[in-house]
Amino acid sequence: MSLPTNHAGHLEIGGADALTLAADYQTPLVVYDVAQIRQQVRAFQHVFETAHVDGIVSYASKAFASIAMYQVMQQLNAHIDVVSGGELTTAIAAQFPMPHVSFHGNNKSEAELVMALDAHVGTIIVDNFHELALLDHLTTARQQPVDILLRITPGISAHTHEYDQTGQVDSKFGFDLDSNQATAAVAQAMQAPYLNLRGIHAHIGSQIFALEGFIAVTHKLMSLLADWAQTFDFTPEVLNVGGGFGIAYTKDDDPLPPEAFVQAIVEAAKADSTALQMSLPQIWIEPGRAIVGPAGYSLYTIGSRKDVPGLLPYVAVDGGMGDNIRPALYQAKYEAVLASAPQAPATETVHLVGKYCESGDILIDRQPLPTTHPGDIVAVCATGAYGYAMASNYNRNPRPAVVFVENGQAKIVVSRETFADLIHLDQSYL
Ligand SMILES: *Cc1c(COP(=O)(O)O)cnc(C)c1O
Repeated sequence: MSLPTNHAGHLEIGGADALTLAADYQTPLVVYDVAQIRQQVRAFQHVFETAHVDGIVSYASKAFASIAMYQVMQQLNAHIDVVSGGELTTAIAAQFPMPHVSFHGNNKSEAELVMALDAHVGTIIVDNFHELALLDHLTTARQQPVDILLRITPGISAHTHEYDQTGQVDSKFGFDLDSNQATAAVAQAMQAPYLNLRGIHAHIGSQIFALEGFIAVTHKLMSLLADWAQTFDFTPEVLNVGGGFGIAYTKDDDPLPPEAFVQAIVEAAKADSTALQMSLPQIWIEPGRAIVGPAGYSLYTIGSRKDVPGLLPYVAVDGGMGDNIRPALYQAKYEAVLASAPQAPATETVHLVGKYCESGDILIDRQPLPTTHPGDIVAVCATGAYGYAMASNYNRNPRPAVVFVENGQAKIVVSRETFADLIHLDQSYL
């Protein structure tokens, strides 16, 4: 990976020296290069603009949700997806414009739906019949209209390099197509006096490298919209193709630029619009990982080391599975550099491990590094998506601080948890 360095040869993030960040804010530390976040959102928006297509970038905020992140998305005029009352509360606290919020989830509670209606969330993406009935009931009782999309299970799934035309019908998300659940859901939504059905949604997977799955799902959704328009008194306004655009975690990953996926989606939708003689709906995309993943770094301080003759040494850092569960959870791969000398040639390959009481707490199984010493700072790259967002207090370790850096200026946007935070919910049993 070619990483920016400063005159001292140190890793630079958003124009700030990684060693200074580690010294100023301690480790483990999550650092975002905000310019990189902005640039990616603008690159997506640019595809829509140059194609003269009405398009919406809705950041899938489960990848990393915080008040500051929502503020940056608002500055960019992006929308956001939320999937829980907690994310919605964060968006409200950020004074994010509620018309630009979409509420997702396969089991939204009644309380969450009431919260969303109270907040006047822009779009509720309805996942199932239980939710459809509940929302019909709530909006009728409140005499409050709400815009909805229906999430369908497209029967197309994608895994990194392949996609499957008939795959993943067996999914917990969305209305099934083959058993006509989706059509029944449209009929039900059209009957509901306060539900304004605007379009369709599907999401085919995550960390996808091939365009074909997105093209296939676009065709599928466009033809469904055309069917619905023919069968019902329904005007297709929104085509939401989800997210899942793949990013590089290591030098073995060679993804297309994320905007290439949007280009392919736009072209497929335009072609269908002509072929189906249907006006082009607004196209919504929901990238999460592609917006925040490459922009995030995790800084750690090296501590202990264990050498076993004939085996790779274990080098331990002051974080691990509590701030990044992805390697332990699904064998996610990352790369790390020595922050003081990212370009220095490696002298050994080590197991880069965490401090948690699990043998599986291995951040990077085989990491080439120069010789390291206790106190050295390592940076794990591309940790911005689903890292902090999935952080836990396992072993009662506090979660790290999160810092945003832009033009060399750093600002704490999520404070480091304290030991007092860790026990503040505990109640005495005596
Ligand atoms: C998780 C998710 C996304 C974002 O996926 P990424 O891989 O982070 O781009 C988008 N839409 C839906 C419905 C999701 O569940």
